[in-house]
Amino acid sequence: MSEPVADGAWLDEARARVARAPLTPEAETLGRVLHAADGLTQVSGLPDLRLNELLRFEGGQQGFALALTRDSVEAALLDPGEGIGAGSAVRAVGELLSVPVGPSLLGRVIDPLGRPLDGGPPLTAAPRRPVERPAPAVIERAAVAEPLATGLLVVDALFAIGRGQRELIIGDRATGKTSLAVDAMLNQHESGVVSIYVAIGQRATAVERVIEALRQRGAADRCVIVVASPATPPGLQWMAPFAGMTIAEEVRDRGGHALIVLDDLTKHAATHRELALLGREPPGREAYPGDIFYVHARLLERAARLAPERGGGSLTALPIAETDAGNLSAYIPTNLISITDGQIVLDQRLFAANQRPAVDIGLSVSRVGGKAQPPVLRQLAGRLRLDYAQFLELEMFTRFGGISDNRVRGQITRGQRIRALLAQPRFASLRLLDQVALLAALDAGLLDQWPATLIASLRQQLPGWLDSTLPQAAETLGPGKTLAEPLRDRLLAAVKSLGEGLLAEVKTP
Ligand code: ATP
Ligand code: MG
Repeated sequence: MSEPVADGAWLDEARARVARAPLTPEAETLGRVLHAADGLTQVSGLPDLRLNELLRFEGGQQGFALALTRDSVEAALLDPGEGIGAGSAVRAVGELLSVPVGPSLLGRVIDPLGRPLDGGPPLTAAPRRPVERPAPAVIERAAVAEPLATGLLVVDALFAIGRGQRELIIGDRATGKTSLAVDAMLNQHESGVVSIYVAIGQRATAVERVIEALRQRGAADRCVIVVASPATPPGLQWMAPFAGMTIAEEVRDRGGHALIVLDDLTKHAATHRELALLGREPPGREAYPGDIFYVHARLLERAARLAPERGGGSLTALPIAETDAGNLSAYIPTNLISITDGQIVLDQRLFAANQRPAVDIGLSVSRVGGKAQPPVLRQLAGRLRLDYAQFLELEMFTRFGGISDNRVRGQITRGQRIRALLAQPRFASLRLLDQVALLAALDAGLLDQWPATLIASLRQQLPGWLDSTLPQAAETLGPGKTLAEPLRDRLLAAVKSLGEGLLAEVKTP
């Protein structure tokens, strides 16, 4: 027998609790798994489910509605699918697939759902936004007009990228695609651009190298790293670039500037194909489902430079794609080339010949960035591409015989200097001033007088040399200006004294 209620306070408290308890009926639809395999499930009994809506399985695993059919839903898993099989119960959570956003993500390594992968605290306080959001309308956009400097001379001089642009980085395996993108991220230390690196199905060692590179150079707290490793369910890898875009959009929509690297969309396309084939969608070209173009177009359309009325922020996208034996006409490469505003093509042969970054000058293009290029660079780099292309052709013809013509010899000398200038080691970014000094020296014929082998050390020592000899020069070279005669002369004199010093060192070891 229970004890008689002696204490009136206890009873009051119990009554009050009953009064506070929510007793309104709550409806909850419970679905059932019809079929589950390899990260994709078919679910019935959830007729009101929306696309991209979150689901929770009876074991606590999450998934989301990837495709809706007439009487069932294809749901991709976001967690390992152990224990999920035909008959498992599943509930709709009533929320769309989302990711945390905001400044608290800076410096963090997270998975596409925002779960920490760096051992840090969970991001529970950060607001969440849906991973799929409409791209800004034409009227909300402004033309690309501000540069996004990568610090790599070959890109900034020949294929300038503007804020809000989408520039594809494409090449065979191990041709320096990731390195080029990471160099561009590292170069944002003074620009205030926030970088988001999204690793989709990349080897853990490769991702670790990127994180290490950012941390060692003190760039990590300007970056957010989103990782969907190849071991995770395909659904998680599928949503990764969308989640990254949402994180970057938050920066853009607050008037800031974001740079997103999607490494890589070839792997993303393969994941999309895997899920589509599991869901028995009819395969199209190269067995990809017909909507792969739409998926990537919709994703990259979210990169934009916003009009001043919308805050003037920007989101620049550097998607990466891998080719097989340099074949740019495969399905995914052609899709991505037509979606983006240009491509930087990395060539296996150039890479093997130690011409790194291995940018193929003939196949690369930047369709909108030229308008954003600083005028002083445009002024100096105008003839560079043509001179270099002519040199490459001449070099082929003159390989077999001696050169008699003086003009041709001059062109070849110049071409070799250009080639040496365009090669650049990793983590050796050049500021606008350094680039201008080098190109001005090239233009004035200064570099032709020295052996091409001297150029690497000249480029390496130039930033420090200019800092000590011309400390005010960077300010004189304001944005939007062309190169004035006095500054040009001073830069040439600085390059000359540095080059001559280096030459003396070489001659007297
Ligand atoms: P994957 O196809 O495996 O993703 P990737 O195309 O992304 O490869 P990276 O991993 O960036 O290529 O680079 C491959 C190798 O080339 C790395 O060891 C890197 O250090 C080296 N490398 C890249 N760029 C340069 C450079 N400019 N100078 C010297 N070495 C470089
Ligand atoms: Mg890579």
